[in-house]
Amino acid sequence: MTSSQDNQSLPARTSASITILGSTGSIGKSTLEVIALHSRYRVFALTANNNVAEMLQQCMRFQPVFAVMVDADAANQLEQVLLGQGSTTRVLAGEEALLAVARHPSVDTVMAAIVGAAGLPPTLAAVEASKKVLLANKEALIMAGELFMQTLAASDAILLPIDSEHNAVFQCLPPESRLAGSDIRRQGVRRIVLTASGGPFRETSLDELAQVTPAQACRHPNWSMGRKISVDSATMMNKGLEVIEACFLFGVGPQQIDVLIHPQSIVHSMVEYLDGSVIAQLGSPDMRIPISYSLAWPERINSGASFLDLAKQPDLQFFAPDLTRFPCLRLGLEAAEQGGTAPTILNAANEIAVESFLRGGIGFTDIPVIIARVQAQMTCRKADSIDIIRQADEQARAIARELTARN
Ligand code: NAD
Ligand code: MG
Repeated sequence: MTSSQDNQSLPARTSASITILGSTGSIGKSTLEVIALHSRYRVFALTANNNVAEMLQQCMRFQPVFAVMVDADAANQLEQVLLGQGSTTRVLAGEEALLAVARHPSVDTVMAAIVGAAGLPPTLAAVEASKKVLLANKEALIMAGELFMQTLAASDAILLPIDSEHNAVFQCLPPESRLAGSDIRRQGVRRIVLTASGGPFRETSLDELAQVTPAQACRHPNWSMGRKISVDSATMMNKGLEVIEACFLFGVGPQQIDVLIHPQSIVHSMVEYLDGSVIAQLGSPDMRIPISYSLAWPERINSGASFLDLAKQPDLQFFAPDLTRFPCLRLGLEAAEQGGTAPTILNAANEIAVESFLRGGIGFTDIPVIIARVQAQMTCRKADSIDIIRQADEQARAIARELTARN
């Protein structure tokens, strides 16, 4: 795990023992690439749903103490092969095991990179256990934001955003108000501007949108990501979810957040101050940058990403988003305004609609239609207990499943 690039000019600093929830995914793999560059990081546990082949390779390379497969058959398979290879990694199975490795006393940092609501219980467990939590799994926060932030406030956990926009905002805020709990309005912040690439269909004709395939929707122009978030980027639901994510992370209302289309994905977001100053964070569109920033925070380390050469960049452009083209963004902004269980319902309905689209069950333009129908059939409530949140989540999923099956 050592490398000639190890910290280059920086002196050796604090070491960390890390659990990666969702290590076989896009963010999980990028995290391991950064870790491989720095000998100070030790992989304590890796977790995945059922991808045995990828997990096996990761275990052989990083020799974690634990490997968790949620799927029991996959865990058995992995255990047999690892035993045969003489590995000392212990294999655990099931959702409970995710909690155990997230809150284990030997762990100080947890990368939360499971996709979807499945990531909520282990991410919350890491927060409750006062870990340094690197949050990629935005759905966990959107589904249960108030509760999540209350749990954070009652713990000694440190929450660092991995989502590139929120990581950018974090970097642009005054240092004393970056961590959750401080009022950024008191620091002279006027507004947060989240940038969005606009995805692969920014210029596709509205007629053609109805016919786009999962493969086309997953072909993002600037970022290489998992399939669910790629579809969310294509519908721009991702930006709606990110507005909600920013409200919780930075303690502001949606009126203080603007969304700007920026097709080059070089400016990752901005903070505007009362005096008219705007501070932006720029960089190559490479998730290893926010990952390495958060891993080492408050230090800076080499990420392995390429450096920007602005003279060779095409022009940087910015446009207001078109809510007719992107109805999912409008639904996201409305849920942010509404609060309570509205984001929970939005997230659950979206997960089911996107799954169905990826399986070929519904068309691309059916995604917002299904979500709006689920919303119309449900009543929003205050999201002040885990039971209310679970109920809203389950009910929204059930209605969305019924609607997608009928479609
Ligand atoms: P991915 O689909 O590539 O990987 C998902 C990971 O979660 C895999 O390791 C998978 O095994 C695991 N997983 C899936 N379902 C699970 C379940 N039910 N229980 C336990 N584990 C499960 O996804 P990704 O693109 O790496 O995204 C991960 C999270 O990070 C998402 O919330 C996404 O919105 C967020 N995010 C990703 C990017 C990106 O560039 N990929 C950028 C910003 C935010
Ligand atoms: Mg993002």
